[in-house]
Amino acid sequence: MIDRFGRTIDYLRIAVTDRCNLRCVYCMPSDGIKLVRHEDVLRLEEIVEVARAAVDIGVIKIRLTGGEPLVRLGVESLVAQLAVIDGVADLAMTTNGLLLPKYAPLLAAGGLHRVNVSLDAVDPHRYAAITRGGDVREVLAGIEAARKAGLTPIKINCVLAHEGRDAEGMTPDARDVAAFAEREGLQVRFIEQMDLADGRFSVVHGGSGGDCRRCNRLRLTSDGQIRPCLFSDLGFSVRELGAAEAIGRAIAQKPPAGSTCSDRTIGMIGG
Ligand code: SAM
Ligand code: SF4
Repeated sequence: MIDRFGRTIDYLRIAVTDRCNLRCVYCMPSDGIKLVRHEDVLRLEEIVEVARAAVDIGVIKIRLTGGEPLVRLGVESLVAQLAVIDGVADLAMTTNGLLLPKYAPLLAAGGLHRVNVSLDAVDPHRYAAITRGGDVREVLAGIEAARKAGLTPIKINCVLAHEGRDAEGMTPDARDVAAFAEREGLQVRFIEQMDLADGRFSVVHGGSGGDCRRCNRLRLTSDGQIRPCLFSDLGFSVRELGAAEAIGRAIAQKPPAGSTCSDRTIGMIGG
């Protein structure tokens, strides 16, 4: 579908959970976030219904994200149900990779096409510091498992910290990740870190929201809202309105450009 600013809306990002097995410093406070109530989290069959309605209006690309999508029980069954929707040309997942050794074969068998793996540092101590305790060896094993399972091309998402930038705007961690990706033949996407101060976050040039003038995205939050823009509080409940109506309203009101989101965490919307 084409919106009022001439943008083709063909991409749905689904936050399948707000839960996560890491606590990245730029994403979550150390004491965790206020979690969505269990009964407010969309059931898997509700997510599939939203995806079908989105494909009906022209969505061809779906990405599962979160929170950490692989901590959602039954995620492989969700993948399998999405993969058979006629019209889905690209089915991808953004993950921290920790659980890929277990899940990569199941996801590939279910019909997932590819994964983006988040990796902000290769050095074990730096990775543990950024993720508050994560073990980078598990991510590296996850990348290997994804490769073996054929979830390719694997892309690496690397958040660029504000501090420690050199003349080219890179940090030592980012340089390490770039070198690792080069060695492994993986593509890297560097993402500008957004400041999540006071629970708000705003557009950052080169950040994860993308280019507003060409934005093709809709998002489904883990608590069942269709959001037309990452940097806005506009959201339409699929339980209250039904999936088709929520999607229709979100596209009709998709802002020309993002500004600030103040009522949801990144993990609820999926970045
Ligand atoms: N848990 C999965 C992961 O880490 O890949 C998926 C969800 S995570 C919210 C999606 C992406 O958003 C990740 O690549 C993460 O690095 C990025 N992200 C999280 N907080 C961010 C921030 N404050 N600024 C920029 N990117 C951020
Ligand atoms: Fe979890 Fe991903 Fe957020 Fe890190 S960026 S805390 S892995 S949701």
